[in-house]
Amino acid sequence: MNIKTIIEPFKIKMVEPIHMNTLSERVELLKKAHYNPFMLQSQDVIIDLLTDSGTSAMSSAQWGAMMEGDESYAGSKSWQKMEHVIYNLTGYKYIIPTHQGRAAERIIYGYLGGKGKCFISNTHFDTTRANIEYSGAEAIDIVIPEGKMPFFEHPFKGNMDVVELERLIQEKGAENIGAVILTVTNNSGGGQPVSMKNTKEVSLICKKYNVCFLIDACRIAENSYFIKHREAEYKNKTYIEIAQEMFSYSDGCTMSAKKDALVNMGGFLAVNNKIIADECMNLLIITEGYVTYGGLSGRDMEAIAVGLEEIFHNDYLTYRIKSTEYLGKKLNEMGVPVVLPIGGHAVYVDAKTLYPQISVDQYPGHSLVCELYLKGGIRSVEIGSLMFGKYDEEGKLIPANMELVRLAIPRRVYTQSHIDYVVEIFEEIIKTKHNVKGYKINYEPKFLRHFTSHLEPLN
Ligand SMILES: *Cc1c(COP(=O)(O)O)cnc(C)c1O
Repeated sequence: MNIKTIIEPFKIKMVEPIHMNTLSERVELLKKAHYNPFMLQSQDVIIDLLTDSGTSAMSSAQWGAMMEGDESYAGSKSWQKMEHVIYNLTGYKYIIPTHQGRAAERIIYGYLGGKGKCFISNTHFDTTRANIEYSGAEAIDIVIPEGKMPFFEHPFKGNMDVVELERLIQEKGAENIGAVILTVTNNSGGGQPVSMKNTKEVSLICKKYNVCFLIDACRIAENSYFIKHREAEYKNKTYIEIAQEMFSYSDGCTMSAKKDALVNMGGFLAVNNKIIADECMNLLIITEGYVTYGGLSGRDMEAIAVGLEEIFHNDYLTYRIKSTEYLGKKLNEMGVPVVLPIGGHAVYVDAKTLYPQISVDQYPGHSLVCELYLKGGIRSVEIGSLMFGKYDEEGKLIPANMELVRLAIPRRVYTQSHIDYVVEIFEEIIKTKHNVKGYKINYEPKFLRHFTSHLEPLN
């Protein structure tokens, strides 16, 4: 039998209607949103690929568990369940619940950071970098060189450059390293995985210099899938065994449960060191909540406990990775320039190659984001010079390294027909690519300008 269709490994029990709008309505809606899709109302979006964060559909088992939520202030049963599942997965001794990933980051990097400290990662995610820099410390990214080449095929483009890691530790002095952080999968680097071999190498170097080694585990299950299928020694291991082994090499982790834990809100921090744990718990009580809920309600903790187990199910994880790959492959075959290989949670389109007529100071990525909305009601996000661009002293744009557009796939939300629709919209995008023009910014705030800036199409 030659079955090519990836069927979703679930049936639909509850539905949320999508409001269909027309091209002429979208022209008006986008204009009213100042050509910035972040400012669109969600009901005006047909397919929302803005982010995979907190946008998952929960299972009937998760909704069922939520009814069991124990809302006691201290020692909640729901916390015991969540703690048990996290302990079984990570093996870390001290587990601290938080309301989302960045709360865990603020607590641990607030403690480990500070002026004069340096953090080293394959790529710090934006909130990780922001929390480290906010503490006064420095954040350095050292992904392997292949990780910066969009079309270069390498099985583990999220790996850390271990030669550079050792050199940096020697240059900065081991006592000044706040922590070494492996982000799995490497979100800002295209959702590319990190190998077990690389994890072991990083761990050995950290042990040699007595430096704290942490994992940013937001997409640990998706990373385990890639290890099983790309690293020969792991082909007979289960996904959870692979994740457990990866955690065993490090001293702790932070995790946003809004990604691989299949919930809409939540997170945690876990470490082996008692001194770090005690300090973090003090900070937790001041800013998040008591140690047995940390900003979460009992029902949230129930849903996380179930989600963290569901994510490692073979049928789910295979469907998850294959369906992201399905979109990426289709676009690639049509001649849409996409980052290769396709990552776990998103497909990244290279807009600079798609629209060579648009110079980087006219934001080709933003042009594609607007085209996707106008043609198909699809919301995506620019990861290029609108998001990361800076100005020099003369007010000239210092562009980002790449002009990408991310199509992030929410977990268990869209079916293959939704994705086929996205592919069809791209057929239109390809046909009309020569007529597309750039944009100019009319208003921008000082920080994180992509969220609220106002733009206008150029003629
Ligand atoms: C989303 C994310 C975070 C931050 O988590 P929030 O829940 O959004 O605060 C940190 N690191 C990575 C890699 C992420 O993807």
